[in-house]
Amino acid sequence: MPSKHSPAVLLGASADAATPSIKDLQASAVCQNDLHKQKLAAASVSDGSTLANAPESEMSLSGSCFCGACELQVSGPLKFSMICHCSICQRLSGAPYGHWIGCANEQVVVTKGELVGFKSSSHMTRYSCKTCSAPIYNQCHLEGNEFRDVPTSFFTGSGMAIPPPEAHCFYSSCVRPVYNAVMDGLPKFSDMPGQSDMVQESGLETMAKAPESEVDLSGSCLCGACELQVSGPLKFSMICHCSICQRLQGAPYGHWIGCANEQVVVTKGELVGFKSSSHMTRYSCKACSAPIYNQCHLEGNEFRDVPTNFFTGSRMAIPPPEAHCFYSSRVRPVRDGLPKFSDMPGGSMVEE
Ligand SMILES: [Zn+2]
Ligand SMILES: [Zn+2]
Ligand SMILES: [Zn+2]
Repeated sequence: MPSKHSPAVLLGASADAATPSIKDLQASAVCQNDLHKQKLAAASVSDGSTLANAPESEMSLSGSCFCGACELQVSGPLKFSMICHCSICQRLSGAPYGHWIGCANEQVVVTKGELVGFKSSSHMTRYSCKTCSAPIYNQCHLEGNEFRDVPTSFFTGSGMAIPPPEAHCFYSSCVRPVYNAVMDGLPKFSDMPGQSDMVQESGLETMAKAPESEVDLSGSCLCGACELQVSGPLKFSMICHCSICQRLQGAPYGHWIGCANEQVVVTKGELVGFKSSSHMTRYSCKACSAPIYNQCHLEGNEFRDVPTNFFTGSRMAIPPPEAHCFYSSRVRPVRDGLPKFSDMPGGSMVEE
């Protein structure tokens, strides 16, 4: 895998004693951060978001994966709380970016459940629930700098205070312009934290483009074991903030395109299915656990949907989203000018 975007390198750097610590990062970013906080306050964030708050230094979280088979405890001081836009996070979660908290190995403890590991780079192994494929934690193997990181969405719905992020990394890989609206006032590193240029927030860009009606996409999962083709007219192109997407993707939200069954074809690879609700089965790569597609079983309304981040790096034209659904479950607000449904599309709307 391209080492430039290796989360192992990234996360290793953020916790490496020889590189800036979280406190160093905060100190170096404090002026800009304060300025952004003022701007955010001036913009009067309507949903009471606390995105610009400093992360908690001590915490104690426990939770279970979506299916309940795995349980995890995280306690003690944080090494970091970071949003990562790298292509590996995108492709393995099937989501635009992930929010990770990192701790020393012994502070991240799996108390129950069976995991499957996938080595996503030379320094990182990513562990998922064997049953529901939800990401549980990553193990960094960098010598002298071992640590574990956990997707904060693991704790979605737990009612616990999840430490807010302190910065964005690999922001140059941010999916644009669709997700350009990460307007949270936090420091944004183009690559590794503290070792790369900062990227300026480029201002509000309205996502006004209509979704493509026809697509012709093909790609492989991160490990390459599974290949998929999507062609024909789209039923929808939608960002979903529902808690199931959050917990199974380990990300704040996912962007899905939906087609008739026969238009979404797996041409190679072995999948594992997990029934995430009475009407939906979610299929993941057996080797790397990346989400491949969902099968909706609603009678008279069968369809398949595919996470657009499956195609990250393919340089294909990914259809932009047309709306947000289940926005009332959001953990991170998005300001992109698109319609936002509190629940199902067509229902009540939420103001940005
Ligand atoms: Zn599970
Ligand atoms: Zn969803
Ligand atoms: Zn795979």
